[in-house]
Amino acid sequence: VSKSDEYQVVIVKYGTRTTTKSDVYLNHHIYGQPDESLDMDYFFWVVRNEHRTIVVDTGFSADGGAKRNRTPLIAPAAALTALDIDPTEPLPVVVTHAHYDHIGNLNLFESSEVFISSAEYKFWTGRHAIRAQFHYSVEDAELSELASVGRQGRLRTFDDAVLVAPGIEAIRVGGHTPGQSIVKVNTGDGVVLLASDAIHYQEEYEADMPFAFVAGLVEMYEGFDRIHAMENTGEVRHVVAGHDPGTLARFTPLGGDLAGLAATIG
Ligand SMILES: [Zn+2]
Repeated sequence: VSKSDEYQVVIVKYGTRTTTKSDVYLNHHIYGQPDESLDMDYFFWVVRNEHRTIVVDTGFSADGGAKRNRTPLIAPAAALTALDIDPTEPLPVVVTHAHYDHIGNLNLFESSEVFISSAEYKFWTGRHAIRAQFHYSVEDAELSELASVGRQGRLRTFDDAVLVAPGIEAIRVGGHTPGQSIVKVNTGDGVVLLASDAIHYQEEYEADMPFAFVAGLVEMYEGFDRIHAMENTGEVRHVVAGHDPGTLARFTPLGGDLAGLAATIG
């Protein structure tokens, strides 16, 4: 990859768990389908070329994962080392939303600029953050870390969209959380959309089945519509869901220390 606005995307699977459809889909019983077991994988993403490296989300912390009985497969810090990434370097980080499994290791990135939608930042510093349906998915210490990034002047908030770097755009869609964002990346294999938790599962998106944890249901449906439109118009070639256990198999496996845990696009 030599063009400065063209990247390789690395998808890193760092954790997993087994759950059920009735646990992940909102009011699953209304579809009249049997409940089934399914796996949920946990990912973060690296976007890189010879000019720059950008990290999209930072995974759950050992604590945040253990509290919820998640199975860690590799510590995100170790995965970064395997990818030759030093998180103390000032590389940009995009936070798609502030849930525990997406901002858990933000403290490793001590000099990074952190991109997050203003709606997301405002929500988690606002009065509804402590309500059980929302608070279950966050860690107070990690929200404090986000606030401290803000105090240090390293937060880059945006309303609808922001160009993180040439060829990389973060776009707020809301739904799952008020400021849930997706990230569009120009790669050697076409435009990749890191949907993060705007789409947890491919099935969620294809069968139009909203996720159980939701801040705005209409926005969540509108997010699905928006991503379908991006695919249908050819604006986006690959859509990467945030937690789908089938994701790695769709792309090029990475060998070495991350064999079985990572794949690349572009
Ligand atoms: Zn998530």
